[in-house]
Amino acid sequence: MVNLVVANWKMNPIDKDEALFLAQKIESSAKKNVKAVIAPPFPFLPVIKPILKKVSLGAQNLFWENSGAFTGEVSPLQLKKMGVGYVILGHSERRINLGETYEMVNRKVKAALKSNLRIILCVGESEPEGWGAATIIGTQIKTALRDVKKNSLSRLIIAYEPIWAISTMPGARPDTPQNAFQVSVYIKKILTGLFGRRPADLVQIIYGGSVNPENVGGFLKEGNMEGVLVGGASLNPEKFARILQISSQKK
Ligand code: PEP
Repeated sequence: MVNLVVANWKMNPIDKDEALFLAQKIESSAKKNVKAVIAPPFPFLPVIKPILKKVSLGAQNLFWENSGAFTGEVSPLQLKKMGVGYVILGHSERRINLGETYEMVNRKVKAALKSNLRIILCVGESEPEGWGAATIIGTQIKTALRDVKKNSLSRLIIAYEPIWAISTMPGARPDTPQNAFQVSVYIKKILTGLFGRRPADLVQIIYGGSVNPENVGGFLKEGNMEGVLVGGASLNPEKFARILQISSQKK
């Protein structure tokens, strides 16, 4: 399994020229042994799609119906038809700012799977709480994956994103690779309990939270992570190119 590196641009940049510039930079720094994904704001999906050859297109959200009277929402089918391959679901910023719950995330997960999208499911605790975090993450995963069939697990990626480590949170600091490793073992255990060993092994586990060129190697090696979800540093082409470079190296 090659490492997955996802650029979550969040609600940035402000115009399409800048989006195109950033996407071109990322496309030109794409590497062979790493899978890169850009998840831009919705309006920039068709803008950057034509220039992406090695990098895949991701979305930051979707709704659970394919069409209808749902003002302001975007459907899995619309995304699929636009060439989107991945979707980030359950991001903490949506949970905190918009009241998105894991019950809602569960509906989105099932809808995304029906449209054959790959899902980057975000989980993570809001405070560094030691073993308390494991219970929170366990509940998040079980709720988000309710009624999901084990034969869809090859299209599931779980991003462990401790909320307190996300760079825009006050006092944010990156997690340690050691803690990320422990959480990844716990996530595997939860998945194994839900689906069995083999299907659980198909799920890629990645880390997100203040990832930068200096700490990415630790999360991939000591943290045993199979990729990273990058927010702030994905808007800086030089930093993101270094993250891709480091992530392309074998463990
Ligand atoms: C994120 O919010 O998904 C994220 C990982 O952000 P940052 O890298 O800026 O902490």
